[in-house]
Amino acid sequence: ITTRRSIHSSQLTIERTQDTTRFDQRPPNEHLQFGTTLSDHMLLIEWHQSEQWSAPRIVPYQNIQLSPAASSLQYGLQCFEGMKAYKSLVDDDSLRMFRPDKNMQRLAHSMERLQMPGANFDHEELLRCIAELIKVDAKWIPYGEGYSLYLRPTVIATTKALGLAAPDSILLYVITSPVGPYYKTGFQPIRLMTSTDYVRAWPGGTGNAKVGGNYAPTMKPQFLAAEHGCSQILWLFGENEEITEVGAMNVFFYLINEDTQRLELVTAPLTRGDILPGVTRDSILHLARSWGDFDVSERYVTMAEIAKAAEDGRLIEAFGAGTAAVVTPISSIRHKGKDIDISTETGELTRRIWNEITGIQYGKIAGPPGWSV
Ligand code: PMP
Repeated sequence: ITTRRSIHSSQLTIERTQDTTRFDQRPPNEHLQFGTTLSDHMLLIEWHQSEQWSAPRIVPYQNIQLSPAASSLQYGLQCFEGMKAYKSLVDDDSLRMFRPDKNMQRLAHSMERLQMPGANFDHEELLRCIAELIKVDAKWIPYGEGYSLYLRPTVIATTKALGLAAPDSILLYVITSPVGPYYKTGFQPIRLMTSTDYVRAWPGGTGNAKVGGNYAPTMKPQFLAAEHGCSQILWLFGENEEITEVGAMNVFFYLINEDTQRLELVTAPLTRGDILPGVTRDSILHLARSWGDFDVSERYVTMAEIAKAAEDGRLIEAFGAGTAAVVTPISSIRHKGKDIDISTETGELTRRIWNEITGIQYGKIAGPPGWSV
């Protein structure tokens, strides 16, 4: 028996689909709806106690078979990633990923948090398999500014027993979906609502892991926000109403700090473990620090501080940050029945960050070493 302590891309096999109808019947680029069209192939790698990691396989996209007792279905033993592949917009025909090592690190952390086996997989090796998947479905990557192939690495526990226990078999798969620009007609600033009844994450919880269990409980508060004409929840924590995240994005505020009277870009720190370490968040912090044009802080901002800054005219911009949209400007925050208005216009800093990050993603701007691969 050969034991495979790691994933080995050299053992990858590829079975290509014979069916051309899925590709022929895909919607035109301008009608792509996030995550609804899936490309032709998927990557599958299993982990079983006997042989550990199986040889990676790329196969035609298909349903998977799962025991109804599978602990991913019963107890939410599941985690995932969200990343993208881009067709270069400079004349070199390259296919690119943006800081994929960060997604591998986060996936390993999420698996480890769920006590999944195989969490110590070789990141480079999995990335090589993912790169092959992207090449096999390269024709599915729409070309153009804002277009990309969304990649969804997923790990599910396949253990078929109802006892609550750490999984002893898992399936790692990657499916992909062509997506269009988040903003078809320029940025559309969003209205937020805070929730005082619901909390997304807390110290000691799973807020810093990308586990499915973090998302299911957001459906109800999200629905309530929509009833108030707000598209996302601004998540708070604690008696001081510290701002943590927005919807499924990290959140940034650009303001004049009351104490220092200096310009400051601020987002919540990762230290307490209740914030998802976003790749976009990290990239924004890195770029903004390298520019040196204003202070950059990782600290909790309270609702009281935001309300006061808005009242004093010191709140300049606010935006969400994540892979799907890169940055999403925030126009207002509804808190305890009152609106805090920020701006209905997209701010200069929000635009600057969008230009810089998308420039790097599409190969137009070099960016820091290792960011566009
Ligand atoms: N917070 C949450 C809760 C998320 O689901 C996401 C999306 N992965 C983010 C933040 C942003 O992370 P990233 O920049 O890596 O997409």
